[in-house]
Order: sequence, then C-alpha cells, then structure tokens
Amino acid sequence: MQVFFDFDGPILDCSVKYHNLYSELMKDEGLDVLSLEEYWEKKRDRWSEQSIVELTAPHGFFESYQKKRISLIEDVSRVGDDIMWPHVPTMLKQISQNHQLFLVTLRNRRETLMKQLESLGIKEHFLQVLNKDNNEGTYRTKVELIKPHLSQPSLIIGDTEVDVKAGQQLGMKTLAVSCGIRNEKHLSELQPDAILSSSSQIFDHID
Ligand SMILES: [Mg+2]
Repeated sequence: MQVFFDFDGPILDCSVKYHNLYSELMKDEGLDVLSLEEYWEKKRDRWSEQSIVELTAPHGFFESYQKKRISLIEDVSRVGDDIMWPHVPTMLKQISQNHQLFLVTLRNRRETLMKQLESLGIKEHFLQVLNKDNNEGTYRTKVELIKPHLSQPSLIIGDTEVDVKAGQQLGMKTLAVSCGIRNEKHLSELQPDAILSSSSQIFDHID
C-alpha cells in the first residue's frame, strides 16, 4: 500500500512554533497575547490568524504582522520549535518495512524541509518527499504533487481540509488526525474515512 503522510500535524506538533511566532510579533509592538492554549484552541476552531491578532491589536496592524510572519514561519531558525510526536520514528520504521511511504507537504522551502527531516532522523523512511516551493497553499497543490506517484491502494493521513480534499479527489482512503490544527468538529464536516486522535492509530487502517 502507498501511504502519503502530511508533515505538520500527523508527524509534528506545530503549536509551540506557531504560538512563539505570534507572541514575538505581538510583543514587539507591546500588544497583549493569548496563552498557548487559548491561541491553539482558536486555530483548531478555524479562526483566521487575522481574527486572533485583532482580538488585541488595532485594525491595520495585521498587514505588517502577516508580512513578517510569512517570512519567518519557515525560517530555519524556527524549526527547532516543531516538536515531533514521540511515537513517530518507530511508527514510520514499522510502516516502511511493508509499505511505500511518501511525505507530502505544503511547506515552501525544500532545503529547510530536507534539513529538518534529516535532523529528526526520519528522512530515510520516505521513498520520496513531495513539496513545491512557492505553492498556492490549497488542496490542489497536494493533488498535483501526489498524482504522478499514485497507484492503488493508497491512503493519505493529514490534519486539515487540504489533506482530506486532496485524498477524496484522488480516490484515496482519507485519515484525519485531530491532534493538529483542526478540531474534531471541523474534521468530521469533511467526512474523511476515519478520524484518529493521533497518527499512532494508523495501523488499524493499513491493509
Ligand atoms: Mg498539516
């Protein structure tokens, strides 16, 4: 079977990275910030970054905030804030023994991505790492990335509408994890084949 893994969500907990960046950019301007828990709960409930920022920032601030955020979020200095879920190395090793593993992500900077995978010690488990620099950030990008490599049966595991929609369009089995940037309510609206609390439950769904 082919297994396509999203990076942020099923493999990494990105909540600290996102919150650190938000806090820094807000505090630089002397603005109040939400706690990590409050911030992440809103992100998971699909609040836009702008709505969260404007809870405590004046109108008009978001434009400059967003420019800085985009330039920094994939900066190599930030990847240390990504936390790999503890079960991931063993899980990937085990799956890759009998299945073809792919990483498919909307991360833009391939060089940083490859360095991060190497430093996490999980690069070797993937047959291929699929991304596209300067991508449009929608499920269509994932469809384009996956399509040339696809043979059935296949599954995709991810934490957002991007992963579920791409998988549905390509006729793949779709697994959504609720430990990422969308809560269970939003994931269930997408009607994936299953919602898992963590990618560690993937073994129940691999043929
Ligand atoms: Mg993700």
